[in-house]
Formats: sequence, C-alpha cells, structure tokens
Amino acid sequence: MPHDHHAPLSPSDHPYRDDDDTSLTYWQTMEIAVRELLIEKGYLSATQIQEQINTMDERSPANGAALVAKAWTDPTFKKSLINDAGEASRNMGFDIGPMHLIALENSETVHNVIVCTLCSCYPRNLLGLPPDWYKSRAYRSRTVIEPRKVLAEFGLELGEEIQVRVHDSTADMRYIVVPAQPKESIGLSENELKDWVTRDSMIGVGLPRSPI
Ligand code: FE
Repeated sequence: MPHDHHAPLSPSDHPYRDDDDTSLTYWQTMEIAVRELLIEKGYLSATQIQEQINTMDERSPANGAALVAKAWTDPTFKKSLINDAGEASRNMGFDIGPMHLIALENSETVHNVIVCTLCSCYPRNLLGLPPDWYKSRAYRSRTVIEPRKVLAEFGLELGEEIQVRVHDSTADMRYIVVPAQPKESIGLSENELKDWVTRDSMIGVGLPRSPI
C-alpha cells in the first residue's frame, strides 16, 4: 500500500523518529576499509567479527560483581585480587586482555574513585560499556579537582575522616574498586552478595546496597 514517508505521524499516531544519517568520519571509513580487507583476504569472517562484538556487548557489571563477592567471602582470593587483579580475573574466567588491571580496596578510612581524564578508559571486561557520564568532560575534569563535590552529587557524602583517592586510568592500565562490604551483608553467601555490588560501587561513585 502506498504511504507517505514524510507524514509526521505513523498510522498509529506515533511520531516518526527523524533520520540521523550523517556522513562517515575518517575513522569510520577507515574501520570499514580495514574490515572489508580482512574479510576479503580471508583473515576473518563477518560472522567471527559479529560474534566478537556480541561477546563484548554481553560483558556487564555482573562480571565485576562476581569478583567482588568472591573477594568478600574468600580472604585468599581477596589477597590475590589485590596482588594481581589481572591474574585473579583470569582465574575467575574473565579475560582482561594484555592490559594491567589494579583492584583498589575501600576501607573505613580510604575511598577510591576511578576516572579517565583523557578519554573513557574503563574496565570494560569487568563492567561492560562505560556510562555516558563517565565519558563526559564534566566527570573527567571535576573528579580530579573536586572529588568530594562530585561524589556528593552522586548521593555519596563522605566524612572528612575518609581519605578520597582518585585514580586516573590509561590505555594500558585500568582500575576496579573493591568496595567495603556493608556490615548488614556479613554472613550472606557469595551468590547472594553479587546482588549487593553495584556498577557505581566498583567505579567508586556509589556504595554497595541491599538488593531489596
Ligand atoms: Fe581513556
């Protein structure tokens, strides 16, 4: 049936979303050219590329939460996580690639926060894609200048007795915060504790909280 593509409303009276087609950037064109070459020369198949994208998209903060919950319930694992977070993650089945990963432990006197002042470096293998605010200029610049104020805006007011440490990620060095275990969660199983560990608590802008 013929229909008008420029009609402001769909047949169900739902407004159409405007097209946002823009011309490709230099790097987008470069990516397409390299990808097509790799496929044409038989180094990779389109299916392999898509599978890799799917694997990357499936990463979520649940990975990091599993790590933290294990650290809360297994002191030996916690020690190995603090000693060499990359190795400990690999042992849990989370491959973090060649980059250096550092786990920062929060305590009653120290609170760690992570940021990437240059761009958006983030422990994606453990937390999935970074939230938009993590990549914003405001978060990147203000977190190093006025961390307590930024944390307060996230609803996290820390007493003066707590030292705030800000850690700047780089392309080959990533951080994950191991939040302090809430007292009211002590005694719960590793599996139950996973639900207490929020994404924001592993960035350092929040605290773990009861899932109910
Ligand atoms: Fe970065």
